[in-house]
Amino acid sequence: MPKGDAHSSMKHIVIIGAGFAGLKLARTLNNHPNYAITLIDKNNYHQFQPLFYQVAMANLDASNISFPLRNIFEKSKNVRIRVTNVTNITVKTNEVATLSGNIHYDYLVIATGATTNYFGNAVLEQQVFSMKSTFEALQIRNTLLQHFEDAVTANNAKTKILLSVVIVGGGPTGVELSGAVAEMKNDSLPFEYPELNFAEMKIYLLEGTSKLLSAMSDASSRKAKAYLQNLGVTVMLNTFVKEYDGKQVLLQDASIIETTFVIWAAGVKGNIPQGINPNFISKSNQIQTDVLHGVIGTENVFALGDVALMESQLYPKGYPQLASVAIDQSKNLANNFIRLAHNKSLLPFNYINKGSMATVGRNKAVADLAKPRVSFHGFFAWLIWMTLHLFLLISFKNRLIVFINWIYKYFTHRQSLAPLFPALTVKSKT
Ligand SMILES: Cc1cc2nc3c(=O)[nH]c(=O)nc-3n(C[C@H](O)[C@H](O)[C@H](O)COP(=O)(O)OP(=O)(O)OC[C@H]3O[C@@H](n4cnc5c(N)ncnc54)[C@H](O)[C@@H]3O)c2cc1C
Repeated sequence: MPKGDAHSSMKHIVIIGAGFAGLKLARTLNNHPNYAITLIDKNNYHQFQPLFYQVAMANLDASNISFPLRNIFEKSKNVRIRVTNVTNITVKTNEVATLSGNIHYDYLVIATGATTNYFGNAVLEQQVFSMKSTFEALQIRNTLLQHFEDAVTANNAKTKILLSVVIVGGGPTGVELSGAVAEMKNDSLPFEYPELNFAEMKIYLLEGTSKLLSAMSDASSRKAKAYLQNLGVTVMLNTFVKEYDGKQVLLQDASIIETTFVIWAAGVKGNIPQGINPNFISKSNQIQTDVLHGVIGTENVFALGDVALMESQLYPKGYPQLASVAIDQSKNLANNFIRLAHNKSLLPFNYINKGSMATVGRNKAVADLAKPRVSFHGFFAWLIWMTLHLFLLISFKNRLIVFINWIYKYFTHRQSLAPLFPALTVKSKT
């Protein structure tokens, strides 16, 4: 049987999205005799989103956190890869439309993740940078580096504007990014750009609510704020961005921050392919599922991870959009597919929250454990954060390269501010 071709006795599972959820599902069902799997993604690689900010800040290269899908499944007998964009789903005929043709399924799993939410502000969307893909992380890195180059030859007033960085959204992404920009400002930049006065460089972190890391404990939130302030970040809570025209950020209290560089980390929404019944799409633009991950109103369509909304007693608004949730959901669905093959009853999803963490910079991280309920911070929390992320990476080669990069950065306090691709500073989407 040619690899991945559906044998008559095999059921064909089509998975859209090779993120944390889709990839885990395909890997768990790899070589299962009852299922032929087609894994579709618009990229030919899996991207490790938690380390995007390190690519954006020139601490890691994009290839260090990207894993070629064909390489992962090169020995697989039942998983085939299709690199294409899914444009529509027709539930009635069990068909997925892609840019390279239609694919028929017996079971469909939608694991298309989330995308940046600009809350309908099209002008803002045109001007700000977001960080939901490796491509966008590279855009941020290149724009930042280009701004330093431009600042070298600019006049005084322009220099200040070019050196101002505004990050909107005080969740883990905003906190990690602003901490990393501040470390770059304190450690690498004064050596590489002796012509520039980095006392003039301002880093703002704007958050709409009254605390950073709103999903974490008050103690962790306060500590993260203190860490950032010590690094030189101006943290502004209860602050909403009204408009941004590419030059000035207008805040709700009518004050203005002049900058040509705004990173938007203020919200996400589910990334839903066309064809899903709008009655079962939530306000957060997620697909509503039952506890078996089935899309409401369908029999053989499932949704996992960031794109799925599964309500439960503990999480009435759905589970948090985290890699751990996406992975646990796909493990449960994979187990149910295996049980189905053995005519066993299916098991509902049960999420065990182990806690949450965020890092701010070298030796600075905050952690909340779920059981026992304790919060801690500092070097130990940072070490755990690093170790966890290292082990979540796929492939020994990438772990080794990332580990060497981190050791180098830890002892030298320097990163490699290269390469600079000016073409990537133009804001365009992948
Ligand atoms: C900057 C950042 C930092 C984060 N840090 C953490 C962290 O520290 N810890 C943590 O637990 N979580 C973190 N998260 C959240 C975590 O990455 C997500 O919860 C997780 O990726 C969700 O997995 P998923 O499989 O649902 O979606 P994703 O991982 O987003 O995967 C979706 C996949 O679908 C593909 N796709 C989408 N649409 C289509 C289409 N139409 N056709 C074909 N393919 C398509 C995409 O290319 C992508 O590969 C972070 C997220 C970001 C953005």
